[in-house]
Amino acid sequence: MNILIAASECVPFAKTGGLADVIGALPKALKKLKHDVRVIMPRYKKIEAKEFDLKIIAQNIPVSFNKKVELATVMEGKINSKDPIRVYFVDNEKYYNRDDLYQTPLGDYPDNGERFIFFSRAVLEITKAIDFKPDVIHCNDWQTGLIPAYLKTLYKLDSFFLRTAVLYTIHNIAYQGVFPKDVFYLSGFDLWDFVPQRLEYHGRINFMKTGLVYAEILNTVSKTYSRQIQTGKEFGRGMEGVLVYRKKDLYGIINGIDYTIWNPQQDQNIIAQYSLDNLEGKIICKKNLQKISDLPVVSDIPLIGLIARLDAQKGLDILHEAIGRMMKMNLQLVILGTGDPEYMELFKKIGKKYPRRISVSLKFDNKLAHKIYAGSDMFLIPSHFEPCGLGQLISFAYGSVPIVHKTGGLADTVDFFNPKTGKGKGFLFTEYKAKSLLEAIRIAIKTYKVKKKWDKLIRNTMEATFSWDKAARDYTKLYKKAQQKKIKTTESFVVGK
Ligand code: ADP
Repeated sequence: MNILIAASECVPFAKTGGLADVIGALPKALKKLKHDVRVIMPRYKKIEAKEFDLKIIAQNIPVSFNKKVELATVMEGKINSKDPIRVYFVDNEKYYNRDDLYQTPLGDYPDNGERFIFFSRAVLEITKAIDFKPDVIHCNDWQTGLIPAYLKTLYKLDSFFLRTAVLYTIHNIAYQGVFPKDVFYLSGFDLWDFVPQRLEYHGRINFMKTGLVYAEILNTVSKTYSRQIQTGKEFGRGMEGVLVYRKKDLYGIINGIDYTIWNPQQDQNIIAQYSLDNLEGKIICKKNLQKISDLPVVSDIPLIGLIARLDAQKGLDILHEAIGRMMKMNLQLVILGTGDPEYMELFKKIGKKYPRRISVSLKFDNKLAHKIYAGSDMFLIPSHFEPCGLGQLISFAYGSVPIVHKTGGLADTVDFFNPKTGKGKGFLFTEYKAKSLLEAIRIAIKTYKVKKKWDKLIRNTMEATFSWDKAARDYTKLYKKAQQKKIKTTESFVVGK
C-alpha cells in the first residue's frame, strides 16, 4: 500500500513526547511489510538541513486558505534504517521557523490553529505536487485532525484522492486543538459544516473532534485507553459522545519501542553496555548515574527514575503528596522533566529540600534519559491517565522495574510481579491516591531486598519484547479497513447511489 504518515513530530528530527517515538519507528516496521511508507511533518527551526542532510525537492507550492495563498517548500530527508524511509518536511518561514514546536515558555503560540491549518492543507497539496497517491493518510493527534475533513469536503471531487482513506490515531485526547471561531473562518470550510455533528465544539473549532468525525477508521494506542475514553469526561475530555457514536470504528493498538535505539547492549549514550547475561554494565551505569546526579554512590540503595513531561496527567500531584513519606524509605530518586512552570518550580524546591536523596533535572535531555533508564533499579509512572506510555516499555528493556498506576496502556503492559510464581514484570497500584502509590513502592523495595526474586524480576522485564512488528501488522489491517470503507463510499458516490 501507499501510506503517508502525517504528524507534527518524529524521532530523530523533533520530539516533545511519545508521538515522536511512534512516528520514528512505525514506518520502519511497515516498510518491512513491503509498504511504500513516507512521513510528512513541519520543518521546525531546530531541524537543520546540514545535520539531517535535507534536500529541497519542490518549491513555491501554493497552499490556499483564508482567501489567500501561502507558499510551501518541501525538503526531503530520511529516517535511517536498513531500508531508509523518506520524510517530507513542509517548510514555511512564517509558520515554522521558531525556537520551539508549539509554544514559548509563556504559553502556546497564538497562531497554532493557523499553523496547522496550513500544514493540513499543505500535506494534500504536496502529495499531489510530488505525485505520491496515498491509499491511506495516517493522521496523528490534533495537529492533523483537519486532513480527513478536507478530503471529505473541499477535496471531495478531486480524483487524485478518490481512493485515499484516513486512519486517525489518538495519541493523547487531552490535547485537542480547540480554537475560537475566527480560526474556523481561516480554515476555509463551509459555514454549513460548523455544526456540533461536524466541526463545531461549543462555539469553537476542535481539530481532534474533526478528525474523529471524518476519518474512516480511528484508533488509539492501547485497548484499555480506547475503552476508557468512551466512559465519560474524566478520560474522554468531552470526546466521549463522538467516540461512543463511532465505537464500531474505534480500535486500540499498543505501541512498540524501537530496539535499535533502546537497547542496553549497543546504547552509546550509557557508560557501560550490558545484557541479561552480563549485568555488570548495569551496576556501572547505576554508579555513574548516582555520580552525575550528585547522589551518594551506594550500590544497595534502590534508585528510582522518573522521566516525564511535567504535566498534571503524569501523576505529579500524588507524587508530591507522597514525597515526604517516600523520604522515610531507603531510596534515591532521579527526576528528569520539563513542562508546566508550576511543576518545574515545585520539583526544583523538592530537589533542594532533599539534595542527598533526590536529583532533579528540569530540561529535555535525551542522553540523560538513556542514562536514567539504564542506571535506575525502578522506574516510576504514577500517571493519572496514560494512553500507552513508553517509559515502562523502555524501562523493561533496560531492566529497570516499572512502578505504575493501573490505567490505559500501563494496565495493558505491566503485570504485577508474584514472588511465589515468579511471574510478572512490575508493580501496580489501582487507586489513584498517594497512599496506594506509596504501598506499591513499599512492595517494590521489599522485593528488591531479596536478591533472587529481584534477579528473576529483572529477567522477566528484559526478556519482554514490545516490538513494532506486530503493531505494524495490526496497523496494516486498519489501513485496509479504512480503504474498504472509502472505496464503498466512493463507489456509491461515483455511481450516484
Ligand atoms: P508522553 O507522550 O505523554 O510524553 P510517553 O511515555 O508516551 O509520554 O513518551 C514519552 C517519551 O519522551 C519517552 O521516550 C521519554 O523517555 C521521553 N521524555 C519525556 N520527557 C523527557 C525529558 N525531559 N528528556 C528526555 N526525554 C524525555
